[in-house]
Order: sequence, then C-alpha cells, then structure tokens
Amino acid sequence: MADDSASASEISASEISAAESPYERENKNDGRRAAAWAALRSAVGACEKCGLCQTRTRTVFGQGSLDTPLVFVGEGPGEDEDAQGLAFVGRAGQLLTRILSAGGISREEVFIANVVKCRPPGNRVPTPEEMMMCGGFLEAQLLLLRPKILVPLGATSTKWILKTTEGVNALRGRWFEWRGIEVFPMFHPSYLLRDDSRRKGSPKDLTWQDVQVLKEKLDRCGKEVRQDGLGA
Ligand code: SF4
Repeated sequence: MADDSASASEISASEISAAESPYERENKNDGRRAAAWAALRSAVGACEKCGLCQTRTRTVFGQGSLDTPLVFVGEGPGEDEDAQGLAFVGRAGQLLTRILSAGGISREEVFIANVVKCRPPGNRVPTPEEMMMCGGFLEAQLLLLRPKILVPLGATSTKWILKTTEGVNALRGRWFEWRGIEVFPMFHPSYLLRDDSRRKGSPKDLTWQDVQVLKEKLDRCGKEVRQDGLGA
C-alpha cells in the first residue's frame, strides 16, 4: 500500500513536471537568476571583507545589460566611480564609451565591472590579497551573466582572469578561454589617455584594431544566438 502511494506521487510529480512548458521553466530560471543577482548585489554593498571598505565612499557593483554576450572587466573603481557607485564613468570610462561607439558597440548593450568593488586609495593597483578577497564576487557575476566574450581591460584584470604573469602588451588582441567564455584582452582606456599618439602601432591604433575584431565576433555571436532560435 505504502509502495503504491509512493509510485502514485512519483507519477503525479512527473506529470506535473511534463506539463510545465519550456516558457514556464525559463521564467522560473529567470526568477532564480534575478534572485541570485540581487543577493550578490546586496552582499557586495555590505561587504567588509578587506581593508578597502574603510576608505570607499560607495561600492561599485558594475552595470549594463544582464542579457549581454559581452562583458568588460577593469581593475577597480577610481575617484568618479567611487563617488557615483558606477563603473567606468570617469574620463577613462568616457573614452571607452567613445571607442566602443565608434566601433558600433553601444555601452547599453554590454555589462561592465571591475575585479575589486571598492576604490583602492589614490587609485593604486589592488593588492593580490584584495583581489583574492573580492574576486569571488566577479566570478559569481560572470557565472550568472554567462557572456560569450569577456574583455579584461589592462594588465591587472587580464592577469587575474588568465592567471598569467604576462603583460597586456603581449596578450591584447589575442583570444583565450576562461570557463567556456572567450577572453579577448585589451588595453585599459586610462593607458590610452596617457599616450595620445595615433601613429601606426600606438596603443590607440592597436585598440581601434581590437574593437573592430571584437565587433566582428559580437556580430557572429548574435547570428549564432538567432540561429538557435533564442534571440529576437
Ligand atoms: S574590495 Fe571587495 S572584498 Fe574588499 S571590501 Fe570591497 S567589496 Fe569587499
């Protein structure tokens, strides 16, 4: 009798699950993802895991599209970012927006964040300990966003993501892989602010080449998504 009732409940559970449409399942997954994202955001907002919490004005979680195939990652917030609680809004961020826009990529269609979520005093490079403490937040963000392409901007985030000691000069413009996501390191826009030259082979010239490669790849990703029937 007990066995019969167990199998009856199993049947009814499988029937319920079979009756659930892919649309309903997708909604449930979206709900879970949104809840995990909100929990992560509030954990960052309240975080005091490393000493940078003592000097920050605001944490900088990152912002942009949550359904994007393309995520940019910088080193850490600067003065403007610390004041506004937003990533890449200072001079370097504005330059990045202009470069992307010239290449046909809008800031609204990408997500942008940093390895550390609080400003290192005086814009110094975050220490390995600070990056180790904070890096888990970025990792969780990336696993929830699941972008197709990840662009580390500058040496610090490139080294953190690729776990390499090689400099960004040697790695920019080349493709790597991190947990199934394609990684394409580029120069940090603050480096471009320090070297204004547009001669062939200058950081600006190389970045312009990189943005065009990135745009081509992004367009190909868009086509693949549409062919899967998941996109618009
Ligand atoms: S930098 Fe990261 S780990 Fe350190 S206090 Fe800020 S949020 Fe926490």
